[in-house]
Amino acid sequence: MQNNPHTTLITSEAPVAANTHGGRAKCLQRLVRLELPVPRTVALSFDAVHQISDGQVPDLAAVLEQFEQTALLCVRPSSEDPDWGGPGAILNIGMNDARYVDLSDSMGVEAAAALYLRFVQSYAVHVARLDPDVFDEIDSDGREGLQESLRAYEDETDEAFPQDRGEQLIAVLRSMARAWEGTSARLLRQAKGAPADAGLGLVIQEMIPGVGQGECGSGVLQLIDPTTGLPQITGRYLSQSQGRDALGEGVAALYLEKDPRGKSLEEVAPKAFADLKTHAALMRVKLREEMQVEFVIENGHVHILDGVRVQRSARAAMRIAVRLAEDGIIPPQEAVMRVDPHSLNELLHRQVHPDAERDTLTTGIAASPGAATGKIVFTSAEAQASAARGEPCILVRRETSPEDVRGMHAAVAVLTEKGGMTSHAAVIGRGLGLPCIVGASEMRFQTKKKQLMAPDGRVFKTGDTLTIDGSSGQVLAGRPTMLEAALDDCFQTLMGWADAERDIAIRANADTPADAQTARNFMAQGIGLCRTEHMFFDPGRLIVMREMIFAQTSSGREAVLERLLPMQRDDFAQLFRIMEGQPVCIRLFDPPLHEFLPTTRTGQRELAEALDLPVSDVERRVDAMTEYNPMLGLRGVRLGVTVPEIYDMQARAIFEATLEASKDGAPVVPEVMIPLVSAKREVELVKARIDSVAAAVAGERGQEFEYRLGVMVETPRACLRAAEIAPQTAFLSFGTNDLTQMTYGLSRDDAGRFMSAYVRQGVFVEDPFHVLDADGVGELLKLGAERGRQAQPEVTLSVCGEHGGNPESIAICRELGFDYVSCSPFRVPVARLAAAQLAI
Ligand code: PEP
Ligand code: MG
Repeated sequence: MQNNPHTTLITSEAPVAANTHGGRAKCLQRLVRLELPVPRTVALSFDAVHQISDGQVPDLAAVLEQFEQTALLCVRPSSEDPDWGGPGAILNIGMNDARYVDLSDSMGVEAAAALYLRFVQSYAVHVARLDPDVFDEIDSDGREGLQESLRAYEDETDEAFPQDRGEQLIAVLRSMARAWEGTSARLLRQAKGAPADAGLGLVIQEMIPGVGQGECGSGVLQLIDPTTGLPQITGRYLSQSQGRDALGEGVAALYLEKDPRGKSLEEVAPKAFADLKTHAALMRVKLREEMQVEFVIENGHVHILDGVRVQRSARAAMRIAVRLAEDGIIPPQEAVMRVDPHSLNELLHRQVHPDAERDTLTTGIAASPGAATGKIVFTSAEAQASAARGEPCILVRRETSPEDVRGMHAAVAVLTEKGGMTSHAAVIGRGLGLPCIVGASEMRFQTKKKQLMAPDGRVFKTGDTLTIDGSSGQVLAGRPTMLEAALDDCFQTLMGWADAERDIAIRANADTPADAQTARNFMAQGIGLCRTEHMFFDPGRLIVMREMIFAQTSSGREAVLERLLPMQRDDFAQLFRIMEGQPVCIRLFDPPLHEFLPTTRTGQRELAEALDLPVSDVERRVDAMTEYNPMLGLRGVRLGVTVPEIYDMQARAIFEATLEASKDGAPVVPEVMIPLVSAKREVELVKARIDSVAAAVAGERGQEFEYRLGVMVETPRACLRAAEIAPQTAFLSFGTNDLTQMTYGLSRDDAGRFMSAYVRQGVFVEDPFHVLDADGVGELLKLGAERGRQAQPEVTLSVCGEHGGNPESIAICRELGFDYVSCSPFRVPVARLAAAQLAI
């Protein structure tokens, strides 16, 4: 047999590999090498199985020689990657009338009949392809059930049930080989990443029946809890059973370890249980993985049938990897590689328990991860009232604006009808670490009536309870069980190992002291973007911001700016202090006006009071200032060029805060960033004024300081003209939100309405606001970076759009040689891990 490379008895030395015989065969060989009690097994190679499916009749004499003549056999699939699946196992091959009689003597009629019955029925369905309902009428077990099943088989096929073991085995092998070639099996495995020509191996194993005299049965055992990843013996065992019977729904399986809730294997068969634990521990060490052990007990003795990688939740995957490395089983770098960075999002937030029942109402865009349950409210005022009562609430809006930020602060989650990955609600939600779903356009948002209508017609009103799963984008009715965040020592350990490998810096986008503190806690290496207009979302301040925007005379504006200066100086000083000498990049005002104009009656009334004007005047001015295309209107540097006093005030606040904060510790070197640049002259104009403010502050205080001036590259023209922009700047930070918007001509606030249809139909592989578009936007990044660097080799390059927290996008930035990426504080750990994996 050893001369035939296609059918191989699994021994320690046999030439068995995952890419010729499949992962199961390879794993079984490892178990044999460990001298575990594995029943005799023969592996058929991919080629052998392929030949069988092509109609060749295999010569099984050599295979059958390996097993005792009376042995029952089972056949199980062995694909290269166990995740690709395969046809179900077929057990008890070799059962026939004669074996039934023999086994009835040795193990009892009931047990022998159960073995034969199982084989007849699975052979009938999987090999003879009979309809399973042929057996529906048979409600007796044992001898009677068996006789009825054999009769049903004969009636349906007009043939007696095959009695020859060799003939049975060939038929089983052929049916499994052909099942693998079927269209649905093919599609299913390709969806899991299998190549079109993925092969199937099969393993033929001697059966240990699991039924009979003494303690017999089957089950699975794991050394961890697959949901939490914490050490704990989990699994099930069922006496007088085979295969995966113990896992069936409703079966009265036993616990493994002693358990107050019921009977356990430890009590029924203590020696077998102790042996199993030892075998499982050895498998963990030698296979370098947490394995699920599939076992059979035969009269108190343990046999190991198989080992498969434990299916696990994201948090379990992290804990498993870290514990394996801490136990010296794998190196730390491997632990870092084993954790999917995307999955960290789940760990950093509460989430819906993986086993919880989900009453899903609709799915929108998963804009900010984590899950929260609360009563729905439709206005920010209601959200604040609810928070004051200590009642968790979900803020439901068609879309959000700065007026809603106070409501967002008060809410535990946010749901909007409109918007995409970079819309207002999404950006603020991520910043606050608040679960958020945007673009839930299949729901009807009847905000006036204060009700939501789900696609299935169910209506939810103020006070009704919903759950927002911002990780999956699912809006759920009611209150499913939750799993808490897992920011434990394990997480910190993994992050430490990741940082040791990383070669691109990670900063955070932080607008408030709270954001900055979160950024510090997650060990961001500075602030890469402080959106200063976001410092005015607080209701008390929003009004001042609006007064400034509305000021028509220069003296009126100056008066407002004077009030703004100390606020900003305090803001910046706080950020500098929290960041303790880490770089802080402050972006000058970039308010898309539509986000700051009061749209509600209350907002307009408040502004009228502040400006001492009739409401009708305010309405008229809101109308006059309303832009057709505000994202391409008077924002960013255009505001700085046309109303320079605003940037003057901000520069002064930054420099005064710099001197203040430098008194307490190491000198602060602030970074000042100009947004939405598209022309060299814009930079020249703003730079000249900021330099003169710096000189004035230094003169007034009699103290010199350094600062770095940079430009945000977020228009296609700024990329194209980077060569003439870079020499005037210390850094170029690519704002990929606007750059994506402008490259595609795709509104970041409206894209949510059709994004899912676009992705579904393959127009976009992914939402380009979520994963950086390597082909288009990436090309502009490359061009801008090359031209900028050629003109100014010292220029610091970075990305500060939302893509900075996305692993695929970080890979692009790293390849382009960027110095850092900057992302929402809660995504910093994801970015740290993703960047480390790129470096390993
Ligand atoms: C960007 O455009 O990528 C950016 C970071 O700026 P904002 O999202 O504030 O427009
Ligand atoms: Mg921008």
